[in-house]
Amino acid sequence: MTTNDTLATPTLDTFEGLLAAITPTTGETREILDPATGAVVGLAPVHTVDDLEAAIIAATLAQPAWAALGHAERSAVMVRAADAIDAAAEALAQLLSREQGKPLNGPNARFEVGGASAWLRTAAATPLDSEVLIDDGATHAAITYRPIGVVGAIGPWNWPMMISIWQIAPALRMGNAVVVKPSEYTPLSVLALVEVLNQVLPEGLVTVVSGGRAIGAGLAVHPGIGKVMFTGSTATGKAIIKSSADTVKRLTLELGGNDAGIVLPDADPEAIAEGLFWGAFINTGQTCAALKRLYVHDDIYDAVCDALTAVAAKMPMGVGIDENNVLGPLQNKAQFDIVAGLVQSAKDSGARVLIGGNPDLEAPGFFYPTTLIADIDDDNPLVREEQFGPALPIIRYTDLDDVIARANSVDVGLGGSVWSSDLVAARAVAARLETGTVWINAHGAVHPMIPFGGAKQSGYGLEFGVEGLKALGVPQVING
Ligand code: NAD
Repeated sequence: MTTNDTLATPTLDTFEGLLAAITPTTGETREILDPATGAVVGLAPVHTVDDLEAAIIAATLAQPAWAALGHAERSAVMVRAADAIDAAAEALAQLLSREQGKPLNGPNARFEVGGASAWLRTAAATPLDSEVLIDDGATHAAITYRPIGVVGAIGPWNWPMMISIWQIAPALRMGNAVVVKPSEYTPLSVLALVEVLNQVLPEGLVTVVSGGRAIGAGLAVHPGIGKVMFTGSTATGKAIIKSSADTVKRLTLELGGNDAGIVLPDADPEAIAEGLFWGAFINTGQTCAALKRLYVHDDIYDAVCDALTAVAAKMPMGVGIDENNVLGPLQNKAQFDIVAGLVQSAKDSGARVLIGGNPDLEAPGFFYPTTLIADIDDDNPLVREEQFGPALPIIRYTDLDDVIARANSVDVGLGGSVWSSDLVAARAVAARLETGTVWINAHGAVHPMIPFGGAKQSGYGLEFGVEGLKALGVPQVING
């Protein structure tokens, strides 16, 4: 468990120092392996339900004094915590790269650590005043947001530091304490991030409990937890809804997606190819709001396939800490098997492989090559299911109404995109997509002041910006 007792060594700005600071000295541990090489990265604690209980008690004790500081003082502490992230940024990026697999460069490990700092600063800087709703002489009503208490933060393995901060930052800003349950695949990244934050934060306010599903499930049922911020699969999100019911917990659920992109016939294939590539392959495709199904109009289908293949061919994939690489391995074997199985189903259907689709099963690491699959049908599993990896199906269409219906035909709705030279036409198509966000001539870009959340079974609740802060408070109307 990360507490202030073990913090505040001056060595957190080196990879070795950071790792030493989070390496358990007692209790059960588990080896965490580098998905690119199989080498041991470090040891993670295996926390128990008793540890969870202790963390919730510590958080409950720390929260009132934190809330009492008020917005301005809490924000000042959060800015110092962001400074601490910046000071340890390279060490954090090294650890993240080794544990998660993502390269240091490109929109990957250094980018993620920078994002964590930026989101923390924005959450600290965003004004949230009490709002007067009516003041007409007869009635005076205002709405304000009280702290919830202790927030549970349960996260996935794809963007472990960034997503943890997305949960922790607004919770702290609104006067809450946080108990964090990282993915069992990437606990070190979250332990290290919180270790760095805890150089600055009061003791017990943010604690990482690193264990398996039982810890997540324990958080979701616990009467001491007022809200769960969950990012992960739709299946786990449904389990959390059920297990939180008895205590009527507030929930923000950021779940899986199967984002469609629609390329209109007036788009310029060369101009959009790089944007399409990173929309789909950011973090080697292991991103919730990545482009997962690309629909291209028949008029420019071949030109888009060619341009995208040319971009894909020049993007180096390999071990994350090699400065040259911008794509890495799948984070774990289970995800490798999902991607391999879906690409195989596409190949079996007679779809055309433009690039990739041929992993070297003898090579170390869970590397699946960048794969583009053309001439594939909507009902193929690679199109219907979330691949969460570096394999993009490219589907041909001719009729706009038909392609919008096909884009909307799944039961998830996280993001979507429209690609066109005509902004007005693109926005009109965007308005017809049943998703939480639609990007125009981009896909997946997030901003700390622009609310983000899913439609349909991609979840509910918004993160980021003022809306995101409000989601970490209990609204209270004072009428009179
Ligand atoms: P996952 O659902 O398997 O695990 C997420 C977390 O939930 C882990 O920490 C896990 O230990 C915990 N957990 C498992 N069972 C639990 C239970 N019964 N109760 C409480 N917690 C439990 O997800 P994953 O495989 O780590 O992440 C990949 C998925 O996350 C993809 O579907 C992806 O689209 C989604 N995702 C969504 C967003 C978003 O913002 N919408 C962002 C990133 C990832």
